[in-house]
Amino acid sequence: MHPAYLFDIDGTLLKVKRKVNRQVIQRILERFGIDHIDVAHLDFAGKTDRDIFSALLVQPDEQPDEDLFHQVKQIYLQELERNLRVEDIHIYTGVHQSLEYLRKQAAWTGLLTGNFARAAKIKLATIGLLEPFRFGAFGDDHHDRNELPPNAFEELVRHSGVDFRPSDLVIIGDTPRDIACARSFGSVAVAVATGTYSYEELNDCRPDAVLRSLEEFPDWNERYLESRA
Ligand SMILES: [Mg+2]
Repeated sequence: MHPAYLFDIDGTLLKVKRKVNRQVIQRILERFGIDHIDVAHLDFAGKTDRDIFSALLVQPDEQPDEDLFHQVKQIYLQELERNLRVEDIHIYTGVHQSLEYLRKQAAWTGLLTGNFARAAKIKLATIGLLEPFRFGAFGDDHHDRNELPPNAFEELVRHSGVDFRPSDLVIIGDTPRDIACARSFGSVAVAVATGTYSYEELNDCRPDAVLRSLEEFPDWNERYLESRA
C-alpha cells in the first residue's frame, strides 16, 4: 500500500510575506486595545493559530476568553481574505513538482497545519494550490500540534476507505515541532529546510529524512517506497 502524505503549509509549501501577516495581526490587536505587543519579532514557527492568538490575547497562565478569541479569529480571517494577494506569497522550489508527482502516484495527500482551516484555504486558494489536498487537520481547536495527527488520520481513513496505519503517514514540515508531531503518532517524519530552521538544526532532531527543499522529495520518496517494499 502507498503511504499517505500530510504537508505543513508555512515554511514548507509557501511563505506569506512576513510583513502582510504580521501587519494584519498587529492591527487586530490594536483594535482590541492590546498595544504592548510587537508581533514583528515573535516566533510563530510550528505553532497552531489557536496557540498563537491565545498567547497574544492573555497573560501567561491565564485562560483566554472564548468569546474574545472567537471575535479575533473571525476578524483575522476576514482581514486575511481581504488583504492577501498572490504576489504576497512565495511558493518554494519543488512544491509544484512534488504535488504533481504525488498526483501521478494517486497518493492520498492532505494537510497537517497549525493554520485555522479557513486561513489554510485562503492561502492555498490564493495561489491555486488547494485542489491537491483532499483531507487534513487544522489548528482551530488545538493548542498542541501533536493533537492534530489523530484527526487527520481519522479523516483519511473515512475518506479513503483504506485501512491505513499511523506508520503509513508521511508528515512533511519545516520545524522541530513537525518532527515531534510525526513521532508522537508513530508516523514518518520528513523535514524540509525551507523555513526558519537550517538543515543541520533539523537533522539534529533525527527525522527520517531532511530535504534541502521539496525539489528533493520525489527522489527521496522513490527510495523510501523501495525500502518499504
Ligand atoms: Mg511550518
